[in-house]
Amino acid sequence: MRLSLFDLHCDTAYKMLTENQPLSRNNFAISLENARKFEQYTQVMALWTDDKLDDEVGWKQAILMSQNLQKDFAVQQGLAAISTTVTDTSRPTLLLSVEDARILAGKLERVNVLYRLGVRILTPLWKGNTCIGGSHDTLTGLTVFGAQAIRRAASLGMILDISHASEQSAKEIFAIGEEYARPVIASHSNAYDICPVSRNLKKEQIKKILASNGVIGLNLHVSFLKKDGNAAAKDILPHVEYFLEADAQDALCLGCDMDGCELPPDISNLASLPHLAELMLQHNYPEKLIRRIFFENAVGFAKKYLT
Ligand SMILES: [Zn+2]
Repeated sequence: MRLSLFDLHCDTAYKMLTENQPLSRNNFAISLENARKFEQYTQVMALWTDDKLDDEVGWKQAILMSQNLQKDFAVQQGLAAISTTVTDTSRPTLLLSVEDARILAGKLERVNVLYRLGVRILTPLWKGNTCIGGSHDTLTGLTVFGAQAIRRAASLGMILDISHASEQSAKEIFAIGEEYARPVIASHSNAYDICPVSRNLKKEQIKKILASNGVIGLNLHVSFLKKDGNAAAKDILPHVEYFLEADAQDALCLGCDMDGCELPPDISNLASLPHLAELMLQHNYPEKLIRRIFFENAVGFAKKYLT
């Protein structure tokens, strides 16, 4: 079975910049070489900045990261296209998100700058308390500025992402999504009831994502699959089953978190991701459902909401 892939999250853009390697061929989990396994390939590239940098230096790093992608040899040669919509998937397509919007550093106009750079998905939080608000490891909600920035993003048509948000911040993000009639997604999070860590989704949050017509990307990070971190590819299946029981068959996607997480030993990079599909087939998942999870749900979502 030759699959297509639409992955909702990776940190490869950060590695490309900081380790000075190109997209086509590198020693990362994600490269165009590894993506050849797939018939069509769409990848959300997160502009995630080093949390050790202060907000202003982080902002500069994000700008450099987007310039570095634009200047990449494969992009320049037209072997991959950076896009804001998903209309033509005949060649590898890269969409941009920002993960950890603390780099706005209290400056609302920067949301517009990100939009002009092509960013269409906003993952406002990452860790701790920032100028945006509280992340998954806190009990805090959004700051006044954070709520303003997320409203600005929604009004521009960006997709809001609750991955990494605290429960309170997520609640407020859902409310803003509703206000602007925009979907809310979780780009790279699993099921809390299967693996109870703060980065995973509670049942109520899953319901709210589905009600907003959002999507959910399964994260391959071992400690979000199994709490002890001793996870293999098969440990993704209980999460898939949980989401299917929660009626998420039209919303479930992949948000593998490659180049930003610790992968299961039997999925070492993008080229070995079809192993997950083989496991699903062995467990009697219909081929149609596997294709939805790998590609079609995310493509349908992107075509509808990234315009
Ligand atoms: Zn992340």
